[in-house]
Amino acid sequence: MAQRVTYRRRLSYNTKSNKHRVVKTPGGKLVYQLVKKRASAPKCGDCGDALAGIPVLRPAAYARISKNQKSVNRAYGGSRCAGCVRNRIVRSFLIEEQKIVKKVLKQQEVEAQAAASAAKAKSSKKKVAKK
Ligand SMILES: [Zn+2]
Repeated sequence: MAQRVTYRRRLSYNTKSNKHRVVKTPGGKLVYQLVKKRASAPKCGDCGDALAGIPVLRPAAYARISKNQKSVNRAYGGSRCAGCVRNRIVRSFLIEEQKIVKKVLKQQEVEAQAAASAAKAKSSKKKVAKK
């Protein structure tokens, strides 16, 4: 006859948090062993990929590990993946470069206008002198 196993805690419903496994003890008895819920890895906030270098634990377990285990040594370390951080850096660099280009173009335009108005003034003076 198959041996019956019983829950070892008071929770008696087949819920998500009450999953058990049948285990044989050294004495040969079959007992229920509680199975913890599966942990999911922390994800990158931009692309949603799992972050490398950070252990995959249940939420409460992160309180028990040290701070340097929850992050990698980089800007946005425990939050964004390396590829997304690189994209952010490249993007901001290009935006800054674009700003500088705009500034230079504006300055050149102003200088060209000033030169044109100066040339006009000179030519009108010459006409006056000829008369
Ligand atoms: Zn990412």
